[in-house]
Amino acid sequence: MANMPPTNLWKLLKCTSCNQPADRSVFGEPIDPPYTGRLRGLCQKCRLNRICQIWHNVHEWRDILMLNLAYLRREVDCSPGYGVELNSETNGLVPGLIRLHEYGILSCSSQPGGVDPDGGFQIAEPEGEAEGWYQARQRAYVELLIPTTHIRIGKEKVSALVNELLARTDIVVTVYSEMDTYPTPRKREDWRAREVAPVPPPSFQQYVSGSSQHQANQDDKLYYFRSSMPPKEYVVTEERMAPTQEALSAMEWKGKTRMSTASVRDLQRDGRLNSICGEDEKGRWFDAVSRMRPLAVLVASKDWSGDVDLLKLVEDVCVRVGLPKVFQGIKYWRLRGIGDWMFEGEEEQAGIDWADVQIG
Ligand SMILES: [Zn+2]
Repeated sequence: MANMPPTNLWKLLKCTSCNQPADRSVFGEPIDPPYTGRLRGLCQKCRLNRICQIWHNVHEWRDILMLNLAYLRREVDCSPGYGVELNSETNGLVPGLIRLHEYGILSCSSQPGGVDPDGGFQIAEPEGEAEGWYQARQRAYVELLIPTTHIRIGKEKVSALVNELLARTDIVVTVYSEMDTYPTPRKREDWRAREVAPVPPPSFQQYVSGSSQHQANQDDKLYYFRSSMPPKEYVVTEERMAPTQEALSAMEWKGKTRMSTASVRDLQRDGRLNSICGEDEKGRWFDAVSRMRPLAVLVASKDWSGDVDLLKLVEDVCVRVGLPKVFQGIKYWRLRGIGDWMFEGEEEQAGIDWADVQIG
């Protein structure tokens, strides 16, 4: 990388936007080693703001896909759906995630499956009393956004994809429309409803343009909340500790992390629409996302071993239902009109390099 300051000088640099130290993460901690990707010169918080601005400024779904790919390829270290650098555990998933983007599917969150991804039993960090042998395991999951109004991605294909995923017994799946709202459950048993029709949201206009089109097909099954997940209890990560390695296998799993949305009740937070990555941190929708009336599709493996390639499983279903690879082979995507401020202070010609992301 040309013209990079030596590491020890990096700490002295001020963010060109907020004038705070430029080496700071969104949490205000120094980033070490220094960040050298796109938009360097800004602190991570200002980078995230700038990236959200770009997500707001693009008009095409493919641009959203490309911006997300830049994050997956570590060209930038934050994204609206995930404010910090891509977790290293995601590295092995990146090729599979990139392939799903070729079908027009945006990935928002994921984790690989397996027992102790860090490699075997280990001494836990001393945390209070909690010192001992430690083991973690996780199920693979992925959270996806799939457009339903894209002219080149047939809605009936999306419908077939979702139906087939929901019907499978080796995975659990939750599907709902990001741009619709669902009734708040009144009775306890309603929390567990596996299928809930959307309601026309009264304040839809403030989020989305063209809402009349949305309200006209509220009865479309595609936009129902549907789930094959056990409500409230779909654990994807858990851990256990023991004083000795031998005692571990007898210990109960604890510290459970669940899938974000297993029942319609999980969507009632803040009375807002149900975004997994279609909005910025202030809750403002990205127009290029909302116009696609995307489905959030949450898929988790039942398997703990990590032997199942969940992303390949999803891709295989894409192939089987005939979802077209609309975004394969598009080598030079351009983010028109945003290059000037995107690349300020950088040596590349404005708007060119960023656009040269090659898919596949
Ligand atoms: Zn800043």
